[in-house]
Amino acid sequence: MQLNSLTAHELHDKLVNKEVSSVEITEDVFKRIDQVDDKVKAFVTLTKEQALAKAAEVDARISGGDKIGPLEGIPVVIKDNMCTEGVLTTCSSKMLHNFVPPYSATVVEKLQAAGAVIVGKANMDEFAMGSSTENSRFFSTRNPWDTDCVPGGSSGGSAASVAADETIYSLGSDTGGSIRQPASFCGVVGLKPTYGTVSRYGLIAYASSLDQIGPFAKDVRDCAQIFNVIAGHDPKDSTSAEFEVPDYTSILTGDVKGLRIGIPKEYFIEGTDPKVLQLVQDAINKFEAMGAVCEEATLPHTEYALPVYYLIAPAEASSNLARYDGVRYGYRDETAEDMITMFKRTRSEGFGTEVKRRIMLGTYALSSGYYDAYYLKALKVRTLIRQDFDRAFEKFDLLISPTSPTPAFRFGEKADDPIQMYLSDVFTISLNLAGIPGISIPCGFSNGLPVGLQLMGKPFGEGTLFKAAHAFEQSTGYYKMKPNL
Ligand code: GLN
Repeated sequence: MQLNSLTAHELHDKLVNKEVSSVEITEDVFKRIDQVDDKVKAFVTLTKEQALAKAAEVDARISGGDKIGPLEGIPVVIKDNMCTEGVLTTCSSKMLHNFVPPYSATVVEKLQAAGAVIVGKANMDEFAMGSSTENSRFFSTRNPWDTDCVPGGSSGGSAASVAADETIYSLGSDTGGSIRQPASFCGVVGLKPTYGTVSRYGLIAYASSLDQIGPFAKDVRDCAQIFNVIAGHDPKDSTSAEFEVPDYTSILTGDVKGLRIGIPKEYFIEGTDPKVLQLVQDAINKFEAMGAVCEEATLPHTEYALPVYYLIAPAEASSNLARYDGVRYGYRDETAEDMITMFKRTRSEGFGTEVKRRIMLGTYALSSGYYDAYYLKALKVRTLIRQDFDRAFEKFDLLISPTSPTPAFRFGEKADDPIQMYLSDVFTISLNLAGIPGISIPCGFSNGLPVGLQLMGKPFGEGTLFKAAHAFEQSTGYYKMKPNL
């Protein structure tokens, strides 16, 4: 049996019933990686030895009669922008090619405490800037459904490894769509939680007011279970919210009767692939057939989301990335004779083109004379975008849209045109600006490539998202489809 293709909750049942061991699961995962990762290229680093040791530890606990938790002994992959003590953490950048963190991110510690088996670190767009994983300084990850296509980004390795059954689940980060868009392209479930629900401590910062960590999973139940474990207040993250974490899996009743779903008209626009629009319409019909009430909604400031994001995110990035100067850790140019030249060369060589573009954009938007005209103005429009959602959620429990305007595109198709690349996040970016949660779930196929449906929720409304997503998933079954690698 190929244990690597099962979900965490299926494997948990098998572990509890002593049908399989965690070592067997972990071995199947690494066997799969050996078979397919030459094609997929999802990993920057593999941690096989540690994974097998952890699995053996869990097996010993089970044979000793201990009760195990839902993620205990289950393999997970971590995006390479989350610090893992003693394990290379590169952000897929030359700047951090040799960085071994002396501590772990809170999410990593939480997973370890829950008994997770860490398989390795996933490839990504450099510093999480991109939508295709083509900006990795090492290599591009490929879409398991068609290896001529991108897996999406920036969490491409995290999404592809789940889709290719090279792991059971994974963690990614989402600043403007980097969990939901690759989840959509790879045909898996991806959650961008409410800002502040998952600790950012140990997440290498891109744009701190937008960054959130979240799970990729093979079904909604797993996604809810992982969120149960990683969510919660963390005193080490000053923006972490104080809130009760309920058991999100207890909400998965399959019942969506009376649920009020808004269809924001600004998200059904020209330029979106007609097949994508049709599949989302089919999904809306499905929700209605299940008893939900679907009506048109409006988010009038949507057209400003992309320009606002591309001021705020680069502004924060230019500040966050100022720390990479070659002095304390990471890449350093060794040839310079003086300090200023060392700084310059380190940063010119250490960062790739897209990262440098963002630093320049952000530095410009923050410089005196432009600060008010660009950055401050963008912050004001951000508030308007958030208020659009507040108003819509007075009437609706959740909103529905495509996750991305197209299915996965081909390598090189958008790499030379940043605006085209940025447009692939037009439906996801507003949620980060507003801080609200969004989930992408598979809703069908276009020419053999998966298409994702996005559900958007109220702040801390993950429960409603899971409930609706689960009902849809169980009644359609797209999540069961596997790529032929
Ligand atoms: N594609 C967007 C960007 O390049 C979003 C990336 C992300 O969510 N990390 O900024």
